[in-house]
Amino acid sequence: MKHMTICDVCFRHCDIPEGKSGFCKGRTCKEGKVIPFNYGKITSIALDPIEKKPLRRFYPGSKIVSIGSFGCNLNCPFCQNYEISWSEEVEFMKKRARYISPEEILKIAKIYIDKGNIGVAYTYNEPLIGYEYVLDCARIISKNGLKNVLVSNGMVELPILDKLLPYIDAMNIDLKSFDEDFYRRLLKGNRDQVLKFIEAANRSCHIELTTLIIPGENDSVEHMRDLSSWIASLENGKNIPLHISRFFPAFKMTDRKATDIDLVYRLADIAKEKLNYVYTGNC
Ligand code: SF4
Repeated sequence: MKHMTICDVCFRHCDIPEGKSGFCKGRTCKEGKVIPFNYGKITSIALDPIEKKPLRRFYPGSKIVSIGSFGCNLNCPFCQNYEISWSEEVEFMKKRARYISPEEILKIAKIYIDKGNIGVAYTYNEPLIGYEYVLDCARIISKNGLKNVLVSNGMVELPILDKLLPYIDAMNIDLKSFDEDFYRRLLKGNRDQVLKFIEAANRSCHIELTTLIIPGENDSVEHMRDLSSWIASLENGKNIPLHISRFFPAFKMTDRKATDIDLVYRLADIAKEKLNYVYTGNC
């Protein structure tokens, strides 16, 4: 009989047969134990401006060594980063990935201090599907006086987040919509889990949030009022930066045009009624 094991990292709780992958393609079952198949397998590494994460109120003007692996626990049809997160390209990225140990990541981070580097950002794909690697890197980076930045969709179980929070200095978290139905219908996800994730992160480190505006899906004034009011209701919520970003046709959503720039600005004005720091992106 084949062994199957439940993964407890995210809301999907995949039942993974021995030797197969979970939904995200980043975790597998080996000898009856769920392990991160993508541990340390880096597909992208770059020294990015911190504003590209995006973080606008955390060490502005600095740079950060940014690393990513492959796979994602969501399957957003509008994914703007699908080459490394989804599609058949994942198989290609798996082959392209190069193992870099946490100790090597520290060495790289130190080399670039002279170029303005402040630490390491875990980004590009969903880093928390391989949280063990993030944890091992974050411990060593933090111990050496550098910063850890996490860019996440916020769709993992809170005990996983709790393990990481002591080492994380800043996060950018996607709040893709305030509409429960949007998360359920388009993402097969769970909005409330994201809201709880954001609340927990906000109690522990600097956070900024990102909302991609998709025409016909989450682009109404009422929706932006609800979303920004909820953010403002959090602890020090008025000072949480919100990035409102413009959608471009991508992945499975090529049936509509890029978001109208004037609409992005209008929604930013609505958000500014509640929040002190609202930024527009891709405009
Ligand atoms: S992290 Fe991946 S394998 Fe684990 S439950 Fe989520 S989608 Fe499934």
